[in-house]
Amino acid sequence: MTPLDGALWLIRHGFAVFPCDHPETPRCTGLHKTCDGSRGKHPAVAFTRGWTLNERKVRETFARGLRNPAVAVGACCGPAGERLLVVDSDRPGAIEDVAGAGGERWQATMRVRTAKGHHDYLWAPATLKLGNGLGSLQGQFDGDVRAGNAYVIGPGALHATGVVYELEDPERPPAMVPAWLLRALLRKPQRPVRTTPYPRPVSRSLAGLVKFVADSRQGERNSRLFWAACRAAEAAVEDAPAVLLDAAVHAGLTEAEARSTITSAFRTVGVSA
Ligand SMILES: [Zn+2]
Repeated sequence: MTPLDGALWLIRHGFAVFPCDHPETPRCTGLHKTCDGSRGKHPAVAFTRGWTLNERKVRETFARGLRNPAVAVGACCGPAGERLLVVDSDRPGAIEDVAGAGGERWQATMRVRTAKGHHDYLWAPATLKLGNGLGSLQGQFDGDVRAGNAYVIGPGALHATGVVYELEDPERPPAMVPAWLLRALLRKPQRPVRTTPYPRPVSRSLAGLVKFVADSRQGERNSRLFWAACRAAEAAVEDAPAVLLDAAVHAGLTEAEARSTITSAFRTVGVSA
């Protein structure tokens, strides 16, 4: 497959194409001012605007001089308006290993073999904002994910090592991004640790608060519930609203009263119940 063959295949399958440097031209044809020397990978046009789906334009561009075809990821649309996401494995089997570690199987999808590994093309729901972040796969996946304002080198391109990027199966279209991968990509790399300005005393455990509420007498029930709910909110005790509600009703408050007191306590502390 030549660069022109690759570019034509891409536009015929709906992928937005633009030209990149080709390692056999005497100098890098990238748009940049200074080249970092990774030949064959630098966009020769401003790719977010300079991509095309037009055959005549592709033929002109790739006949003018040696260029590698590349795909403007954010400009590609799936059959139902989906957005393109490319999983770039830096070694063969890298994404299969990540899937396997999570008890999943990596499904076959459109794949381009690269110099080091492979690019898997997938469709992601258009409603999700995905970028180039790895989410919770950070540090677990030997590769990158390309979505949104990004590009990948396409089939038919020549890598500086002499490897030609090749479609594994030209008949296979992109699959949908599996749910487990979407979840992983949308997750933060590391959960921020909740910092409290004081150590969480044992008396603020939910059991203690429940007892405090359940033991209250008429006339102090509301104020004790309010105090307990504030402490639970501050300490971010899981399930506290529901459990305190039960305790308060047990102590004789109506459910409506108790619910409103708990909501107001959580609002006072600045969290939602
Ligand atoms: Zn360059």
